[in-house]
Amino acid sequence: MKVALIPGDGIGKEVMAEGKKVIDAVSEKLNFEISWNEYNFGAERYLKEGKTLTEDDLKELSKNNAIYFSAIGDTRVKPGILEKGILLAMRFYFDEYINLRPIKFFEGVQEILKNKKNIDFYAVRENTEDFYIGIGSNEAKKKHKDEFEILRTIYNVKFNLDIESDKDEIAYQIGILSRKGCERIIRYAFELAKRKNFDLVTGVDKANVLNFYAVWRKIFDEISKDYINDKIKSEYLYVDAAAMFFVLKPERFKVLAIPNMFGDILTDLGAGICGSLGTAASGNINPKGVSMFEPIHGSAPDIAGKGIANPVGQILAGAMMLDELKKSDAANLMIKAVEYVLKEGKVRTPDLGGSAKTADVGNEVIKKIKEM
Ligand code: ATP
Repeated sequence: MKVALIPGDGIGKEVMAEGKKVIDAVSEKLNFEISWNEYNFGAERYLKEGKTLTEDDLKELSKNNAIYFSAIGDTRVKPGILEKGILLAMRFYFDEYINLRPIKFFEGVQEILKNKKNIDFYAVRENTEDFYIGIGSNEAKKKHKDEFEILRTIYNVKFNLDIESDKDEIAYQIGILSRKGCERIIRYAFELAKRKNFDLVTGVDKANVLNFYAVWRKIFDEISKDYINDKIKSEYLYVDAAAMFFVLKPERFKVLAIPNMFGDILTDLGAGICGSLGTAASGNINPKGVSMFEPIHGSAPDIAGKGIANPVGQILAGAMMLDELKKSDAANLMIKAVEYVLKEGKVRTPDLGGSAKTADVGNEVIKKIKEM
């Protein structure tokens, strides 16, 4: 298997070294081979060469089976340039329409919600549609025309907007949901539940106020019928109720299917209730294409270079990648080893109240993998 390695900036480089080390250890133990192709995309290259990701870079990346990414960002680069030019560029080029976020509490991490250790579910966030397609304006005048064209692998849409208002300044944003876009993400959520032996999929929307989510709900309903024989139940929740249950009763969730914008918010809430930015991972997935796996934290310039960043999110992103590459045994072994190390509590980085270095955590996880 060929895997693209993009360590990026700041603590990205430090935690990536541990993620790679752990994957190498597990692949050696379970007898499979990963060949790494490392790329220097990130702030340093942007500052030197003025490039984020070129068409050639994307073609080069597409030769890999998956992308193992860490973090980009640098105080010398205007916010948004690297995110748009690298992260979003990859997401759209490879049509990574699924944002998969395990929401899992690890024993040993400080509890945020009292007596709520039993948090273990998946948020499946749609990654390409909704209000995030870039159709909007914050400077529409009294009489105003706007044209937008959305070109996607699954459809093209053109909007010609004639805006007339009796006030000087209005702002607007338009969201799109397509049948195909809803179908493919909702089906992924049900398939994930089936693969993981979960018995509940929760569809989230706000169909009572925002009309277009009725399509999401209708398609959720249609697809759920295909899984009745698999004993997977389904339910809908409005996003406001879902947010409340994230805090009051997170143990009720198994898999959630969430449109883009609400997913953005709920997945961060999910990371919050699990207590640490340093331990959460995320996958940007196209099951038939090149998927990308990353920790949810950024480049954290404040602690970069000190060797104290928590590498657990990066290691768990590696486990997600192996799971998607059909190496579930390897993925489970990595997760078990991380769980063990966190619970034992001897080797923890300062963000979790310990004094260990980034590399100590990687080494300890490898030790456990070898012992198991
Ligand atoms: P970016 O702009 O790249 O998102 P950021 O510093 O604004 O970077 P994060 O990196 O996501 O945002 O994190 C915010 C803070 O949380 C960091 O400044 C750091 O103190 C802490 N933090 C984030 N990730 C880790 C980690 N893996 N280990 C320890 N602390 C972390």
